Amino acid sequence: QRDRLRDFFSERPTLHHGKADSKLIVLAGPTAVGKGTVANHIRENYPSVLLSVSATTRAPRPGEIEGVSYFFVSDDEFDRMIEAGELLEWATVHNAYRYGTPRGPVDAAIAAGNSVLLEIDLQGARAVRRAMSEARLVFLLPPSWDELVRRLIGRGTEDAAEQARRLQTAKLELAAQGEFDHLVINHDVGDAAREVVDLMEIRAASSIA
Ligand code: 5GP
Repeated sequence: QRDRLRDFFSERPTLHHGKADSKLIVLAGPTAVGKGTVANHIRENYPSVLLSVSATTRAPRPGEIEGVSYFFVSDDEFDRMIEAGELLEWATVHNAYRYGTPRGPVDAAIAAGNSVLLEIDLQGARAVRRAMSEARLVFLLPPSWDELVRRLIGRGTEDAAEQARRLQTAKLELAAQGEFDHLVINHDVGDAAREVVDLMEIRAASSIA
């Protein structure tokens, strides 16, 4: 009995922390809003923030780096990670590939008092909220719907059918913004990144007081 309790707490080192201590930020938002760009800006300019590296079954795009952009894994390896309980959350995104957050680095960073940023989809954000009640959920918004369409078409990484599918998903995702703790409008990548990081600094400062 006691061992079970100890396991329970060691697997969930932050369970009893209140929101005021939270340094776990989940950044979600509709497709093409610039989540990845904001996350990269944070990685490059705020080195004290750990950016969680997800596992995915999708193939690398040109320029993506194993272990930095993602851990690119096979379907079998992804199954194994789920079975072994290694993922904090996982989801099938855009009805295509699976993506998941490795649990170990997140738990270790939080236990060490560091800030962690997860850039994940809406299903993932909801799952993290259920698993870790102290997480702060940030929703990144485009300046307008037209701007979102322009960004999706402009980046040219998806064909027309995939663009249409992602825009459909984006409409559903935008409707979920009320579930989030904070809304950040992505007018400018540097400003949006600063707003997200400020949430961590506010948390850190208020937990000292
Ligand atoms: P992309 O294939 O364009 O890199 O990412 C597609 C989508 O997967 C994005 O919306 C991104 O936020 C989401 N995603 C990336 N990593 C994870 C993860 O670990 N978990 C979940 N649930 N979604 C993720």
